[in-house]
Amino acid sequence: MNAPAKGPINLESYVCGAWVRGSGTPKPLADAATGETVALIDSTGLDFRAALDWGRETGGPALRAMTIHERALMLKALGLKLMEMKEEFYALSTATGATRSDGWIDIEGGIGTLLSYASRARRELPNRHLLLDGDPEPLSRDDSFSAQHILSPLEGVAVHINAYNFPIWGMLEKIAPNLIAGMPAIVKPASQTAYLTEAMVRRIIESGLLPPGALQLICGGVGDLLDHLGGQDVVTFTGSAVTGRRLKAHPNIVENATRFTMEADSLNAAVLGLDAGPQTPEFDLFVREVAREMTAKAGQKCTAIRRVIVPRNHVQAVAEALEARFARTPLGNPAADGVRMGPLASLAQREEVRARIIDLSAEAEIVAGDPGAVTLASGDAEAGGFLNPVLLHCERPDTASAVHEVEAFGPVATLMPYDTVEEAVALTRRGKGSLVSSVFTDDAGFARAAVLGMAPFHGRVMIGNRDSAKSSTGHGSPLAVLVHGGPGRAGGGEELGGMRALKHYMQRSAVQGTPRLLDHVAGRWMPGGPTHDDGVHPFRKSLAELEIGDQIVTPARTVTLDDIERFAKFTGDTFYAHMDEAAARANPFFEGRVAHGYLVVSFAAGLFVDPAPGPVLANYGIDNLRFLTPVNPGDTLRVQLTCKEINPRENADYGEVRWDCSVANQDGEVVAQYDVLTMVAKDAG
Ligand code: NAP
Repeated sequence: MNAPAKGPINLESYVCGAWVRGSGTPKPLADAATGETVALIDSTGLDFRAALDWGRETGGPALRAMTIHERALMLKALGLKLMEMKEEFYALSTATGATRSDGWIDIEGGIGTLLSYASRARRELPNRHLLLDGDPEPLSRDDSFSAQHILSPLEGVAVHINAYNFPIWGMLEKIAPNLIAGMPAIVKPASQTAYLTEAMVRRIIESGLLPPGALQLICGGVGDLLDHLGGQDVVTFTGSAVTGRRLKAHPNIVENATRFTMEADSLNAAVLGLDAGPQTPEFDLFVREVAREMTAKAGQKCTAIRRVIVPRNHVQAVAEALEARFARTPLGNPAADGVRMGPLASLAQREEVRARIIDLSAEAEIVAGDPGAVTLASGDAEAGGFLNPVLLHCERPDTASAVHEVEAFGPVATLMPYDTVEEAVALTRRGKGSLVSSVFTDDAGFARAAVLGMAPFHGRVMIGNRDSAKSSTGHGSPLAVLVHGGPGRAGGGEELGGMRALKHYMQRSAVQGTPRLLDHVAGRWMPGGPTHDDGVHPFRKSLAELEIGDQIVTPARTVTLDDIERFAKFTGDTFYAHMDEAAARANPFFEGRVAHGYLVVSFAAGLFVDPAPGPVLANYGIDNLRFLTPVNPGDTLRVQLTCKEINPRENADYGEVRWDCSVANQDGEVVAQYDVLTMVAKDAG
């Protein structure tokens, strides 16, 4: 890998299976701390239309030919490989202004997100080519016409336009879901820090783990790329609201209704509870969190706390505590020892942040830090984008506007006083939609009122208190399993959120038809679908032999009062409805003593299980269990067990089988309905 010490890196784009350099005059990219040129960037002359076609015609089909588990295993291998190389990325990351802990969020946080998707997808999703969304919808009385929502991968390209602050995480958190969904990507990192993204993409391509066309990279401008997008493509944008709005309104994107996900700026807030005065653990946690959010990545995080909302009588104490923390956070060249806060990404970014502080100063006074003078632990204050933390105080946040609208994308936040929880909530909502806000309180009533008031305006709300002090992942960390995005001002987009994220790259279709054909399309048996009983108990069949629709209908078994009493005694469950005739009759649901629901489930297993050793290895649970009709002594039960879904595992010699289990009484009324989940060997041997 090129290292900055060897001179500027001539960045290349990776399109149509080749690394190419632009034909124009490259733009120099400066080291955030030293100002030295790290890299040169240019994408002039690239054939953007061909890149889209390469993704659509080569990457897409290759990915769609793989199952979801195969794609997930591919990402796992990739994540492990990248993790082995992490020190190379850290070495380059310093030039972006990142300290080691800033780099950790970007590099290991990014690779961790990839690995999280790889693992969750195999745990939570079937090993198939498409996903089912929800249960079948019966549309006829006789089960001859039903519907199933399915999700299939879009056949275009996911174009990811990213911000400069997380050159690695920003790419990986976006490509993980699109690759597992079966869609190829073109990544366009922000120019300022594109050398780090480029370095990682080189390693990804070298690994040979992704099929050709699955990932392309544009270093530099996107030229006429947007002019060639269609309705099967997706654009995700992370950056400033101004750019985002412009791109979203691109005529071609509007005309083709190209999906556009926007993650823009956000005036995130942290609220200190009315109960959380100095001397409480919540006060200390709050101060630590605000200071960390202001200084990590030099405040260049989309989730950073910009508005610090504090009970009026504690404003002074919070300001002093924050100032003390800033004093313990040395600013300097992140390559130097002992530095805990790095510079902004560039000198231009520092000028931008200083200009925004001037905007904020119209409504707020600076109470800590001096935007004009830099105090450094190491480095040259004028060579890099150094800026010490700046804390402002706005006395009348209820009538102010700039403090709720102007995002200074650096180590800057504004303190705001409040008197009641309603006022605190109202202030958070003045941000017109944010990615995240947090509440620090140990008072359940305050937490409830604050969170319910804030939730409609936020993609994520974190409650901080003494119990979670050690385990909390913090205000500013988007997690792979939680949604990231916010309404309104924050862009209205949504990313991550575990498997929810895949759906942004898939089309949801309602498929209607007769269950016999729908079963085949969806790969899942549904009521009304064909069943077969060839005389072989389905538990005697390996995955290779089993088919969806394989069914047994068991002999009947009568439930006696003695069964109920023995079950009650054996399990200790002597709930009155099973034991006391008069009390059971008084219950609005029963006409007398009833069997335990778990007795019904246990008897059902006794009826459908084939006991000898064989391909069925284990029962690992039950889904969607419902007791639909009471079972009284004398009722006779019969079970219909139907193979519903078969999921062979990619890297094991067994897989999961889901069985539809319907227990009915002598009148044909269903008394219990559920899915039985089993592990079954792939081969009979
Ligand atoms: P930006 O200037 O809006 O740029 C964002 C991206 O858009 C960059 O890749 C940029 O490329 C590209 N771009 C700019 N003009 C374009 C055009 N006409 N066509 C296609 N692409 C274009 O934002 P930034 O300065 O990089 O990032 C800082 C902002 O991002 C902050 O406001 C921050 O709040 C926001 N942000 C939001 C999130 C989130 O998740 N919500 C995360 C991080 C950052 P070039 O660099 O090559 O110009």
